[in-house]
Amino acid sequence: MSLSVCKFGGSSLADGNNISRVTEIIGSDPARRFVVVSAPGKRYSDDIKVTDLLYACYRESVEKGSCAETFQKIRKRFRSIVTELGMDSFDIDGILDETERAIEENKSADFTASRGEYLNARVVAAKLGRTFIDAKDIIFFDDNGRFDESRSYPLISEKLSAAGSAVVPGFYGTGADGKIRTFSRGGSDISGSIVARAMNADVYENWTDVSGFLACDPRIVEKPEKIETISFKELRELSYMGANVLHADSIFPVRKGDIPIRIKNTFRPEDPGTIILPSKKYVKSGNIVTGIAGKRDFTVIFLEKSMMNSEVGFARKVLSVLEQDGINFEHMPSGIDTLSLVIESKFLAGGMLEKLLRQIDAAVRPDYMRVLENIALVATVGHGMASNVGTSARLFSALSEAGINVRMIDQGSSEINIIVGIDNADYEKCIRAIYHEFFRREKASAAED
Ligand code: ASP
Repeated sequence: MSLSVCKFGGSSLADGNNISRVTEIIGSDPARRFVVVSAPGKRYSDDIKVTDLLYACYRESVEKGSCAETFQKIRKRFRSIVTELGMDSFDIDGILDETERAIEENKSADFTASRGEYLNARVVAAKLGRTFIDAKDIIFFDDNGRFDESRSYPLISEKLSAAGSAVVPGFYGTGADGKIRTFSRGGSDISGSIVARAMNADVYENWTDVSGFLACDPRIVEKPEKIETISFKELRELSYMGANVLHADSIFPVRKGDIPIRIKNTFRPEDPGTIILPSKKYVKSGNIVTGIAGKRDFTVIFLEKSMMNSEVGFARKVLSVLEQDGINFEHMPSGIDTLSLVIESKFLAGGMLEKLLRQIDAAVRPDYMRVLENIALVATVGHGMASNVGTSARLFSALSEAGINVRMIDQGSSEINIIVGIDNADYEKCIRAIYHEFFRREKASAAED
């Protein structure tokens, strides 16, 4: 029988009605045996997520020795969830009392934050009549705070297989010191991926409040196309550039196990969503471009020096300056006598840029240095780009037709991504121009054929 690991996000579990939908979704497919849950999210736009309330509880308990005031709000949320679900005999108050006490005793931000997932998983497990398996007993971190695969995978597999079906809280596990540790925010996506990998699932279903990925930001292009199929590689490029549906780190466990991810919408379960496939299983979509994403506010430091290409250690010397100052660079396009560093502008504030320029000048004595500020990067991503002659010509003529000045180009080495650097002010115009060229125009010419 096939096996799906399903993760449900905070908005899918924000109140009792939503949790009822979720239990219906789980019940409608016997393959959905293992479920990973987030803490209850926002019910309306200015609502507060339970995880945020918990961080406030932590601060309150550190400052006042008690978190009673804020914890009362959490108590109310869970009580109404349980009432809406008609779980009258479920002792939520007992569990909440114990949790409040533990928060005050532990005095740990991670422990406190993790309790939203813990409580929600207890409720969902009881509602489904499935075993609750605490993440603290199956997900472990090593001394460096990284996920410990070799310790976790065998335990997950053993405990979940023995249970047959189960509910696991997302977002946390146990650190090397034996204390609760969380992933970064949004980390239940990572927990779901880990469980899917450990169980060697056929699919990792990630249930959220959108029907998958869109070809670009809907705030910039009205009703962009949905992406039905995308490869892990394409997704990595797009999510790195800001296309956020999944936690960026959540793709690694399933990718290693060649397990596809399906993004589904809890509120429109009939929508096919987006399927993210490993390269092996990837089937090319008809589009040359799969998606477009970008980010604003970069600074480009451009260096020129004759015979740079034959100067051994030139790039290393430049990079060690960045390393000394603890600055990360995003891209480093280079030519025969030129090298550019693309850095997020926020790292260069407060005199850091000037300091860096002085240090680079001393380290490599370039003939010429120039700084471009307020640069946005836009990535056009798609496997189809590698095999279609003339793709970059189309992209650049679309930008020139739109009157956009391209300040920098970086094709990287993957052939599935072309990144252009443009002025921040041209950011939206640039995305619209590229979208129009590869999606609207493509559709128009297909209709003409
Ligand atoms: N509840 C956590 C957060 O709000 C983790 C998650 O939902 O994935 O970040």
